Amino acid sequence: MSASGQGSPSLIDHHAHQIILDELDRTAFEALLNEAAAPPRPHNTFFDSMLGMSLRRWCAPVLGLPPHASADAYLTRRAELGREASRRLVAGSGVTDILVDTGISDERLCSLADLGGLSGASTYRVTRLETLAEGLLAADVSSADLADRVVEALQTTDAVAAKSVAAYRVGLALPSRQPSGAEVREAARHLRPGPGGTWRIADPVLCGWLAWTAIKVGLPLQIHVGYGDTDLDLHRADPLLLTPFLRATEPSAVPIMLLHNYPFHRSAGYLAQAFGHVFCDVGLAVHNTGALSANVIRELLELAPFDKVLFSTDAYALAEHYYLGAVLFRRGLDRMLVELVGADEFTRADADRISAMIESENARRAYRL
Ligand SMILES: [Zn+2]
Repeated sequence: MSASGQGSPSLIDHHAHQIILDELDRTAFEALLNEAAAPPRPHNTFFDSMLGMSLRRWCAPVLGLPPHASADAYLTRRAELGREASRRLVAGSGVTDILVDTGISDERLCSLADLGGLSGASTYRVTRLETLAEGLLAADVSSADLADRVVEALQTTDAVAAKSVAAYRVGLALPSRQPSGAEVREAARHLRPGPGGTWRIADPVLCGWLAWTAIKVGLPLQIHVGYGDTDLDLHRADPLLLTPFLRATEPSAVPIMLLHNYPFHRSAGYLAQAFGHVFCDVGLAVHNTGALSANVIRELLELAPFDKVLFSTDAYALAEHYYLGAVLFRRGLDRMLVELVGADEFTRADADRISAMIESENARRAYRL
């Protein structure tokens, strides 16, 4: 939707994941609703949250139920419809293009092709830097060869962007210069596989080097910032910690996308204003804050230049995240623009132009889609 009610022709979700198409019981469904580590305690339910209320309000009608249907009625209907429920929700989101971070290893997730087929959207892959390097180590690439092999993989990738999860591994105080080859070899030499032969890169030199390498190769770099699951120490995921890295990478002009950002989204808006190559969004926070997400969107837009704001759902596992992320974002943005047009602060033409930029044009330009 736009301030003139005409609706942008395209909606680019620049950060999301695959979903689960198989049936989920109530415990499994609630465990995937939000970022909590464990399912709700007995006699509690995650439906009693801003997210749950929005889900009952907006997703229930998509499944043929009245708005505000109970959680039990919703889950019963969802199970009756099977995959059709997920199809309706993803297709109904209006998302036309999805950039998919395929770095989460959960064998219940559908393929990229399934997600595209279900939604009718074009899908593009985003490669997760730490996962890429861990995969090379698992394939017996030596610590001495790791750097060269990562560079080679990034130069030849079909992905439209790289993603760093340094926030989860070492925090966001990334270095203001690219670590040298000798430093990378020395850090890699100390890596050891964990139980089951799995590798996990959680070293500041290596995480910093990976982020710098994406920039040097010229791949747009997504960085997880702020809110996420309980693997994360949230105080180390403050985007202001990235300031030296952003200052040092600005001359490259390679776009850097700060993902999620909540509750630091005002700081992310400042960084998008301060640095020419920085973009920001409030994905994940939108569906989690439900009807109050309009406030979060407004707070991002206080400072962030309109050509630096992107749309994302950060949908993961549940098709409901796609639907809610898209519907709530469009409603929140639209409500703000309609109000400003009504107050004669913006013209209607400007409001329409701004919503088209945020919903698709900024992403199309930044990722060269
Ligand atoms: Zn994500």
